[in-house]
Amino acid sequence: MKTYRRILLKISGEALSSKNNSIDPQVTQKVSQIVSSVLAQNIEIGIVVGGGNIYRGAALQESGMNRVVGDHIGMLATVMNALALNDTFRRNGINSLVMSGFEIGGGVCQNFDHNQAKENLSNKQVLIFCAGTGNPCFTTDTGAVLRGIEIEADIIFKATKVDGVYTDDPIKNPKATKYTSLTFDEAIKNDLKIMDTAAFALCKEHNIDICVFSMLEDEDTLSKILQGQELGTIVRN
Ligand code: UDP
Repeated sequence: MKTYRRILLKISGEALSSKNNSIDPQVTQKVSQIVSSVLAQNIEIGIVVGGGNIYRGAALQESGMNRVVGDHIGMLATVMNALALNDTFRRNGINSLVMSGFEIGGGVCQNFDHNQAKENLSNKQVLIFCAGTGNPCFTTDTGAVLRGIEIEADIIFKATKVDGVYTDDPIKNPKATKYTSLTFDEAIKNDLKIMDTAAFALCKEHNIDICVFSMLEDEDTLSKILQGQELGTIVRN
């Protein structure tokens, strides 16, 4: 069984939302419980949060906005999600901190620094990374892989709505079957939309595995995977 010392968890913005709330406090509470159970296993955790529940640069561009500006707005959306998560964590007694990919200042959060991040994680602080890579034209998936490499995470966990990677969209195609594992090359060749190509390219080059799983249906799934159960799908070289 593989043991993990430090993990990077990617949570999309959409995962934090519900029908009535773009940031649902019940969901941030669930995430907080999941994080607590990771810490209880003596595993360090960094989180990259998306912003798609609030704004995405590509969608804003479709309504006429300059793409770079749209992406700046998208990255600011990730900051809001990170602040909400951090607030929930801290109210639950978790020692956590937000680090941003671009400078925000004003005591809102800290700037990302890879040495500082590794030190804080070693001291059992949970870090929430926002603003993706800090640059337009990227996604928070790429940001997650980048931060995963920078903090020397053992693996990247990508939380999605489905419980792994399927041969086709399991909601549209009931015949779709789930992969236990597959390679980055297979995922790219079969156009399985798990992550964008830039994110895959980084994973491949830096040899860092991704585990795709469903986080919110069963709050114990991540813990079970960390304890060696084969849930979700592993994408690796
Ligand atoms: N974004 C960006 N650079 C990054 C990461 C994100 O410009 O490195 C912007 C981009 O507009 C993106 C938005 O932030 O659409 C929100 O991120 P993403 O769509 O990845 O969020 P998720 O789908 O995970 O909720």
